[in-house]
Amino acid sequence: MLSLTHRYSTPIYQFQAFGLSLTYRCFSLSHRRRETSPLSDTKPVKDAKPHKKSNDARNFRYANDPEYRAKILAQNRDRHKYLFANDPEYRAKNCIRTTAWLKARIASDPEYHAKYNARNLAYVNARYRSDAQYREHHLAERAAVWAKLDPVTREGLLQRQKVYNKQKYANDYTFKQRHRLQMWLRRNIPVRALAWRTHDAELHADRVARLCSGEACGFEKKLKLWMKRKHSDPALYDCYNCFASDWVPEKVFPIGYEHVIFGSGETVEPGPVPLDAAANKASRDANPSSGAGTTS
Ligand SMILES: [Zn+2]
Repeated sequence: MLSLTHRYSTPIYQFQAFGLSLTYRCFSLSHRRRETSPLSDTKPVKDAKPHKKSNDARNFRYANDPEYRAKILAQNRDRHKYLFANDPEYRAKNCIRTTAWLKARIASDPEYHAKYNARNLAYVNARYRSDAQYREHHLAERAAVWAKLDPVTREGLLQRQKVYNKQKYANDYTFKQRHRLQMWLRRNIPVRALAWRTHDAELHADRVARLCSGEACGFEKKLKLWMKRKHSDPALYDCYNCFASDWVPEKVFPIGYEHVIFGSGETVEPGPVPLDAAANKASRDANPSSGAGTTS
């Protein structure tokens, strides 16, 4: 076996050596050609000096004269805009060049890649929030893509989402608390007298369309649970996600429930009311503990 390996391995070494020597010769030839190729430069040598002088002068002015630099940049921008709008060939070439540059930069610079993704996401989110037409188009496009998927792929994606949520629920304390509080509110708003410092809860039997004034939204949503901002005229609403985006127990829990930690096994009962909430408590109903649930 050893001898067979040896016998067949020898010619491979020979080919490798031959290939290497060829590669070396090609590179050395091209290198030499580049070094000794003044003939390819067809411009007469006598013209080079004046050109060089004027280029140097322009470069010097560009580097040292901010007004001149701004003028040149504006001219270039205008030219680019005009050609991009009016010359299909220029537009196509520009797109190809820009895409190639972008791909290369993304592949070679992880920091730039992260920034690029964040910028894109910010743009899509901002447009989604501010442009109803874009939002409708985006949702319709997503629905169309989803409808075209075969059942196996669809099931795989749903499964992946479930696994992600399960892991997040297990590892992210705030995610778990936020999710559990929402479930608890949906069960308990109808049966308990709950009050918040900054909001009033509205739980509807059917989804109701309202404009969410939260920072992450700013557009209309159809939801059953809405948190109405106190003392707002006209009325301002937050969806639950916006309302609970900052996990501050004094804000997100009803008054008297700030101590609750879901998953601790303790029964969810109102505790001593903090002093600052005493005034709000006075306006609550007399029997806050009806319909008690547990965290287990
Ligand atoms: Zn919202």
